[in-house]
Amino acid sequence: MPRYSITTFGCQMNVHDSERMHEVLRRAGYTEAGGPEEADVLVLNTCSVREKAEQKLRSEVGRLARWKRERAERVVVVAGCVAQQEGERLLKQMRAIDVVVGPDNIPELPGLLGDVALGGLPVARTVFDLDAPRFLVASPSPSTRAAATAFVTIMKGCDERCSFCIVPYTRGPERYRASDEIVAEIAALVAAGTREITLLGQTVNSYRDPLGALPRAPGASADDPDESEFAALLRRIAADVPGLARLRYTSPHPRHLTPSLVLAHAELAVLPRHVHMPVQSGSDRVLRRMIRRYTRAEYVARTRALVEAVPGLTLSTDIIVGFPGETEDDFAATLSLVREVGFKGLFGFKYSRRPHTPALKLPDDVPEDVKGARLARLFEESEALLAAHLSGLVGTTQEVLVEGRDKERGGERGAGGALWSGRTGRHEIAHIEGAGELDLLGEVVEVSIARANKHSLQAELTEAARAAARQQPRGDAGRPARRSLPVVAAGGG
Ligand code: SAM
Repeated sequence: MPRYSITTFGCQMNVHDSERMHEVLRRAGYTEAGGPEEADVLVLNTCSVREKAEQKLRSEVGRLARWKRERAERVVVVAGCVAQQEGERLLKQMRAIDVVVGPDNIPELPGLLGDVALGGLPVARTVFDLDAPRFLVASPSPSTRAAATAFVTIMKGCDERCSFCIVPYTRGPERYRASDEIVAEIAALVAAGTREITLLGQTVNSYRDPLGALPRAPGASADDPDESEFAALLRRIAADVPGLARLRYTSPHPRHLTPSLVLAHAELAVLPRHVHMPVQSGSDRVLRRMIRRYTRAEYVARTRALVEAVPGLTLSTDIIVGFPGETEDDFAATLSLVREVGFKGLFGFKYSRRPHTPALKLPDDVPEDVKGARLARLFEESEALLAAHLSGLVGTTQEVLVEGRDKERGGERGAGGALWSGRTGRHEIAHIEGAGELDLLGEVVEVSIARANKHSLQAELTEAARAAARQQPRGDAGRPARRSLPVVAAGGG
């Protein structure tokens, strides 16, 4: 049986696509290799959102030429956004590649590999499924407990035209999945043991049911062009899958943070008290040039409404520094926004020119060292906010969804030798000490926060949680072990 290995770069969408590729390949009779060196088929699932991510692929393929020469039948597959962006060109530029497959063509991968095995020429398949969108569905195996957390795609593509962003080009226009299908997939995952679902989409909160099966959500306005059916979908999932512990989503666009979504957060206990809401800049001038279609004041008002509706809710964000024409004043406005909103997490990026984007018309005029200095300053600000937030939690009691053993997850190990790790309802990472003998995987447990690390919390089970956990049947006594999260070479974003 041929063995495969998948290396993933980039965002959660890519992580999710990789999980589906695992399933597609396994169903076609492939087995997972212990690592790339043991594999017959190596899949690189790529990201092209920034130039650096694309360069990573090119250097990886360069290294693979030697790996391929060791055995003639070895096959290299390039999937994901670089595959979609470059298509056939990749085959011409890099002779080591045998198959190029776009995100919408993943189900065709076994067939393409079969052709190559029979001596077919290198092939590129990068066609958007515009007429009949296909969504890859997780198929949890009945013999293994599902992962504690899982992604479910609700839409793909993007109709925004942010001037810096290549996503509309690599993922195509917006296509939505029927709410019935979404609910059925979530129900199946929860039945298999999953506790937390993250709804995925490029602009996840622009969701509309293609079959018109959702009632209008409370607070939804018929006249607001930014209104969507996302809040209605959240309400339907909460009602139809009562066993779900947490329902997250990524990544939303601030434009669709409408009153109906705020109300859903206020009323649905399943929505955790944390939202990642990309802002990109705190300067109106830059936001306009980025074609973000909201002002700083609108962003602040919308996120403030959310925080007022859900006390204690935290926000994190994405920010680009060094966008063409960004002045010191513009950047100062970004820093002041970070302080004003009080983000508790931040992904910061240096602007990177991408093919096919409107911003190519603007000169990339912020020097590299200035971009670097701004990014460092931005991180300084956000680290200080996070540190103050985390130390403020010391001594409090929190509910943590346990996602895995620390050593498996490569987490930040505290001095006390934490064994389990997971996330609080607000998404802070928590390492749980002194509970190694208990099977906590997939449990929502009560912990008290003992210390704050730089990016995480060190926690201990409360006495009540310890007593409750002791009553639980052990993972090795009758129920299959829950799968740990797949290991990926993540690139952020
Ligand atoms: N839905 C998100 C939004 O509202 O913008 C887009 C997610 S994007 C895949 C992840 C992040 O990468 C963006 O939020 C942005 O901060 C960053 N990014 C995208 N294009 C970029 C570019 N050309 N240069 C630098 N960073 C970029």
